[in-house]
Amino acid sequence: MVKTKAVIPGSFDPITYGHIDIIERSAGRFDELHVCVLKNSSKAGTFSIEERMDLIRESVKHLPNVEVHNYNGLLVDFCDKIGAQTIIRGLRAVSDFEYELRLTSMNKKLNSNVETMYMMTSTNYSFISSSVVKEVAQYKADISDFVPLNVQEALKEKFNKK
Ligand code: ADP
Repeated sequence: MVKTKAVIPGSFDPITYGHIDIIERSAGRFDELHVCVLKNSSKAGTFSIEERMDLIRESVKHLPNVEVHNYNGLLVDFCDKIGAQTIIRGLRAVSDFEYELRLTSMNKKLNSNVETMYMMTSTNYSFISSSVVKEVAQYKADISDFVPLNVQEALKEKFNKK
């Protein structure tokens, strides 16, 4: 039987409970789930791609069908490379919508075999984003409701160095 494969792309700089929620919920619906760290040219990174991948791996190690990758190219090419027909993205608020619509339309144009599916965030994670978590972590706020322990420690180390 053909395996169902989906890709969750993103910057994951760093991974949050919002991302983990989407990953956990998708992992139950596909045989293989591939988390792919992509470089977002419009966002300056805080963590290196390797650091982000390590933090994701540690955070999803309870999910046996999830693999973590990075890719330096077009997302639809990555999907082709691993034989995935589905991209999963999370939606938090209306403000995400316009960007996502542009992204999805472009990906569809580039490769019409790959379908993008959206998953609504769980309400208790709707306000979490990597950038807001980093912002408050710099001021030593308690971020334990937003990111797992390994990410809390990595953020502490990153910002103590500065
Ligand atoms: P990108 O830079 O591509 O937006 P992100 O790492 O910010 O990458 O997000 C990756 C995916 O996870 C996106 O689909 C984003 O909408 C989703 N996401 C991020 N935070 C949350 C959250 N709190 N709840 C649900 N989805 C989220």
